[in-house]
Amino acid sequence: MEITNSTFIKIRCPKCKNEQITFGKSATYVKCLVCGKPLTDPTGGKSRVKARVLEVLD
Ligand SMILES: [Zn+2]
Repeated sequence: MEITNSTFIKIRCPKCKNEQITFGKSATYVKCLVCGKPLTDPTGGKSRVKARVLEVLD
């Protein structure tokens, strides 16, 4: 799943189920704050979200 808009998304870590809010179009790695698992894979300015997106926040 790719997030292309500059929005905040709520994602859930697939490993430890931690939920956190991150910027949808981040060019940097987003790691789970609990277990450290990478949750996005930044490619060319877009984030490919590995974690489950629970909600898109405007
Ligand atoms: Zn985690």
